[in-house]
Amino acid sequence: MPGGVKADVRTYQMYVNGEWVDSKSNKTFPVYDPATEEVIAQVPEANADDVNRAVAAARAAFDNGPWASTTAQERGRVLFRLADKIRQNAGMLTELESRNTGKPIVEAEFDIADVSTCFEYYGGLATKILGYVNPVPDNAVSLTLKEPIGVAGQIIPWNYPLLMAAWKLAPALAAGCTCILKPAEQTPITALEMAKWFAEVGLPPGVVNVITGLGESCGAPLVQHPDVNKIAFTGSAAVGKIIVKQAADTVKRVTLELGGKSPNIFFADADFEAAIDGALFGVFINQGEVCSAGSRILVQKPIYKKFVDAMTEKAKKIKLGAPLDRDTKMGPLVSKDQYDRVRSYQELGKKEAKLAIGGGRADKFAKGYYLEPTIFYDVTNNDRIAREEIFGPIAAVIPFEDEKDALKIANDSPYGLAAAVWTRDIFKAFRVVKSLRAGVVWVNHMQPTYVEAPWGGYKQSGFGRELGPWGIEEYLETKQVHINLNEAPIGWY
Ligand code: ADP
Ligand code: MG
Repeated sequence: MPGGVKADVRTYQMYVNGEWVDSKSNKTFPVYDPATEEVIAQVPEANADDVNRAVAAARAAFDNGPWASTTAQERGRVLFRLADKIRQNAGMLTELESRNTGKPIVEAEFDIADVSTCFEYYGGLATKILGYVNPVPDNAVSLTLKEPIGVAGQIIPWNYPLLMAAWKLAPALAAGCTCILKPAEQTPITALEMAKWFAEVGLPPGVVNVITGLGESCGAPLVQHPDVNKIAFTGSAAVGKIIVKQAADTVKRVTLELGGKSPNIFFADADFEAAIDGALFGVFINQGEVCSAGSRILVQKPIYKKFVDAMTEKAKKIKLGAPLDRDTKMGPLVSKDQYDRVRSYQELGKKEAKLAIGGGRADKFAKGYYLEPTIFYDVTNNDRIAREEIFGPIAAVIPFEDEKDALKIANDSPYGLAAAVWTRDIFKAFRVVKSLRAGVVWVNHMQPTYVEAPWGGYKQSGFGRELGPWGIEEYLETKQVHINLNEAPIGWY
């Protein structure tokens, strides 16, 4: 065992072709608890050889295996059984997710419940993939058939590990695809735990493979592999751009859910107490490690000063603590890397704007990647803290004059994942909703997300949509079928 590793460290294998295997190189890498900074698990370090093995299994399962002839009803039932397993083991999964990510356990409970709901939703949708009869002007029947896209590579982030796995696996399996799932290297544990039930719920070998590895040595060969038909990726914009380039040589289907710098817009007529809550919740939930975080807080001038003061007062009450403590509202950031990154933005913000609260490490903790919830105000939209995705507990408060000004600032961003607007004026609300260039817009709330509704971004926040019927569409090909009903020769020659 490597130095400093305790005896209760779990050792995992990965799941390929229905078997538990080590990496071909036998290399492993450590997984941490960000609250204690201790190693909690060792997982295989997959490289291109392991990717090849997993892709071969997924390819064979798609091309020749029993999955191809499994009915939509049966695929749906498999997903229902998986949802049940997760619900029955929710306590174990919740605790592992909270320990590994640092997120408050109460938030992890919601995540794991949503995982089950996601598998159930797509279990139901499996039997509702419909084709069309196209009204062509001829004596013919023209059909549109929907078919699974094939082998899907799915690369996921560390902020909602099992939920992001579910968002990708559930629609892919409902569609009839086979999958290679690569969890983020920081948080691979819950996906590996879930894989222990795959055979029991009726997934044949090779249909879902879970490989653990790093981005460049495992993610990249998966993206480049010629036998993979589609890549679904959630992660940073920087890596998203690399993935599009890597996918070009094989003309792979790609969907991307990348970052954001989402505006949370507060008009002077908004319910003030609800607004303060909404501003804090929008940016500090999950320690701010949320792609749709409302990290740009736009406040109309008449309430601006009062707003910053009230936000600051309320932010003082946010309880930082151990992830497994039920009273905790913010835990540590996920990793040393992420902590360092966000910490550097705290320092940058002090140069660019005014600091209302926070700005450093939460020093009451001897260990762990804890950062104070941090609010900067008098930020301009040109400041880096207003333009770059930080992915941590940092709010940038920006004043605005009127509706036109708010929209100009809100849309002046390379990103367009989400936005929220707070007002009691329904006419204003709808005008703003229609003018915002974002894939998700909330009115008088921020962050609720439902498996029934589409999720994804405009502009550099990515393309494609997850969830709802839109999510399954991304795992389907469209085939046009023409059936000629004229029995005579064409008569052209
Ligand atoms: P972060 O920088 O916050 O860790 P990333 O976008 O790097 O976010 O990570 C999201 C996912 O993308 C992870 O599963 C990671 O391993 C993977 N990844 C990182 N780099 C690459 C790459 N070059 N090719 C494919 N996948 C990658
Ligand atoms: Mg990275």
